[in-house]
Order: sequence, then structure tokens, then C-alpha cells
Amino acid sequence: MTPAQTGGPPYDARIRRAERLAAVYPFAVEFLDLYRNIASFQRALFEEVASSAKTSDPAAAGLRGDLDLTLLLPHFRGFLFLVEQKGPAALADSARQISILPSDSWVSLLNAYWSQAGLHDQQIGAFAQFFPRAFLQPYAELLAAQTCKPPLATTPHVCSLCGARPLLGVLRPEGDGGKRFLLCSFCLYEWDFRRILCPFCGEEQESKLPVYVAEQFPHIRVEACDTCKFYLRTIDLTKDGNAVPLVDDLAAIPLSLWAYEHGYSRPQPNLLGS
Ligand SMILES: [Zn+2]
Ligand SMILES: [Zn+2]
Repeated sequence: MTPAQTGGPPYDARIRRAERLAAVYPFAVEFLDLYRNIASFQRALFEEVASSAKTSDPAAAGLRGDLDLTLLLPHFRGFLFLVEQKGPAALADSARQISILPSDSWVSLLNAYWSQAGLHDQQIGAFAQFFPRAFLQPYAELLAAQTCKPPLATTPHVCSLCGARPLLGVLRPEGDGGKRFLLCSFCLYEWDFRRILCPFCGEEQESKLPVYVAEQFPHIRVEACDTCKFYLRTIDLTKDGNAVPLVDDLAAIPLSLWAYEHGYSRPQPNLLGS
């Protein structure tokens, strides 16, 4: 058994990529600027909790074992303040409203997200999840990094560390082509997954799994399924080796519209709700 990931999450690469994409896709500048600020906050929070967290084995309680908020909660006000300062009007308003709630409400908000995210949260909506999701992501990533990688017996449709649905596909160069991985929407763990197989309903007939690639995003595949009408967005690193899946996905706003117009939806939206 080896650690699922080594080293810390690549926050610096995510921040640089957000800067770079903001120069290429003007329509995504607001999202990418907000993301850049959030990622800087997440980097600092990750370093803080990584250096002071107890090194208990998260595998013992499962990745979603009790959420220990003693380390995290003191930073929540700073996070709300950041969104109030840097976020678009609607998010800034929500940040202000949450900031005046008693800390009991913060605890409930964070605990509810921690236990439900990526599992039974499809009705909750990305906007409602934004605060706990952005705030807790570094902690989920830290636990994933400390958890031993489970042996892969089958092709799991959900993350084998935390049970959450995939956020994205990632095609990584292998041999002459690309090998597909799925990226967890909660803890950002990656696992390999067959290319011709719908991760949502198990459809495996190639004729039912159309792939759409927009001229504007040659390295992003919309991998749709005509059986369940869901689609997976897959970042193709064989086309652009500099892409950072989590960040490139945020910039690809027009693809959500395209999918919507063609009757496909995304089971797990990204942090900014598209
Ligand atoms: Zn996971
Ligand atoms: Zn399907």
C-alpha cells in the first residue's frame, strides 16, 4: 500500500493556471480571479492544518470520519471575509449573512457538507455548497493524501476513498493514446477508469456515448451518455500538457450551455456551479 498522493496539493500550479487562463478566456476572468483568491486561501489553510493536524490514520475511521473542526473553525471567518471582498455580489452577500450567524450554525453547515458532499447532495445546488466546499476542500485533500490507496479490484463509479461522485475525467498520456482517470469531487483523489464506459449508468456501447469537443477548448471533451443523459467533462492532457484539470474546468463555461441545450446535465457541478 502506498499513499494515494505524495506531497501537498499543487496549489501554486492551480493559481498560475488560473492567471494564465484569465488572459486567454476573457468571459471567465471573474470566475478565475475569484478562484485564484480562494486557492491562495486554501494553500495557506492546507499548510496550517498539515503542520498541526494529529497524524491519526484517517483510514481507521474512513475519510469522512468525524470532522475535527477545532483546527478549522478559527479560519472560517477569514474565509467569509475574503469572499465578501473578492466575490461577485450574490456570493459576497451570502458571505456577509453567514458571517453574522452564531458559530453553531457554521458547525452545522460544515458538518452537513462533510457528510453529504458528492453522495446525496444533488438537490442542494452548487451555490448553497460553495462555502463549505471551498473551505473544507484542503482538509479533504489532506486526508486523502494521508490515506492508503485501496487496491483496485473493479472499476469503481465512485471514489474509493470517500464514496463521492467524480467531478471530472482526466486523460493522461500513455503509450500512443491517453488513459482515463476520474477525479473525485470531494477529496480530489484520482482513480483509473475505462474509456468507453459511462461512470453514471454503466453504458458501454460506443454508439450511445457521443463525444463533443468545442473549437474553443480543444483539450476538453464533453463525454455524453445518451442512455442516462448525464455527461462527464474530461480534460485531455494529451492535447494540452499544461492544463490543470480543476482549473481548466472552471474556465470552460460555454460547455455547460452547450450541454444544457443538447439535453445533457452534469451530476456534479464544479465549485463555481457550472
Ligand atoms: Zn474522494
Ligand atoms: Zn450513462
